[in-house]
Amino acid sequence: SSLAEALLSCRQVSRYFGSLAAVKDVSLDVMPGEVLGIGGPNGAGKSTLFDVITGLVPASAGSISFAGRSISGKGADEICHAGVARTFQLNAAFEHLSVQENIEVAAHFGSTARIFPGFRVAASARAAAAESLETVGLIGKSAQRAGALPVFDRKLLMIAGAIVTKPKILFLDEPVGGLNRDEIDLIQALIERLRTSGMTIVVIEHVMRFLLTLSSRVIIMHHGEIIFEGLPGQVAEDRTVVDIYLGQ
Ligand code: ADP
Ligand code: MG
Repeated sequence: SSLAEALLSCRQVSRYFGSLAAVKDVSLDVMPGEVLGIGGPNGAGKSTLFDVITGLVPASAGSISFAGRSISGKGADEICHAGVARTFQLNAAFEHLSVQENIEVAAHFGSTARIFPGFRVAASARAAAAESLETVGLIGKSAQRAGALPVFDRKLLMIAGAIVTKPKILFLDEPVGGLNRDEIDLIQALIERLRTSGMTIVVIEHVMRFLLTLSSRVIIMHHGEIIFEGLPGQVAEDRTVVDIYLGQ
């Protein structure tokens, strides 16, 4: 028998801030084509785990591999270039730039890019940006200033900035936080389209209905550790998980 190979693997990954273990001994495999959901209370270490995987913050211990190669210790640019993209929990747009310019920056510099004054992007970035904005449904607002967008469009903008790099794996950090039910359904449909197009997806979210219907598998973190891993239907039956949520 041949087991499918993980697209991304973390082995005993930890990240300390002083004496605080934000992420502690986390081992996980993300399989190609799956939607892996990550839940857990505030402060559980979910975003820090994304920061470590995407190279924004170095791990204190452990190893990470992507597509069969180690990405441990590599920079965010290199990891993005290899095919790993992400969005952020909080709005990360360049407020003074237009929607189109924001995505051109991401196309040119990567989804974790920070720009400098007087930047120039390649013509190819312009075409890629338009395609990405079309995919998320923001093409009609290309010329608007990002800072003037409502919350829902800001979420779409961040997803556009991530997918413009044509990632193999996409990490979404609370993509529906602060949205209403109709908006949540639209984001869910978009993510399902991205998955159907061949992207592997890892998504952090507090909105449980969204997380449990979207994900093929779910992990729950608490105090930096994975305390549950299983099918969406098993989450609410897990004693430890229920106690943590009720005890909040
Ligand atoms: P989650 O995304 O699950 O809410 P985080 O990963 O943001 O959790 O945070 C995990 C823990 O690490 C929290 O206790 C948080 O305060 C702490 N933490 C996160 N980033 C930093 C940082 N840059 N410096 C110090 N502590 C941090
Ligand atoms: Mg977070």
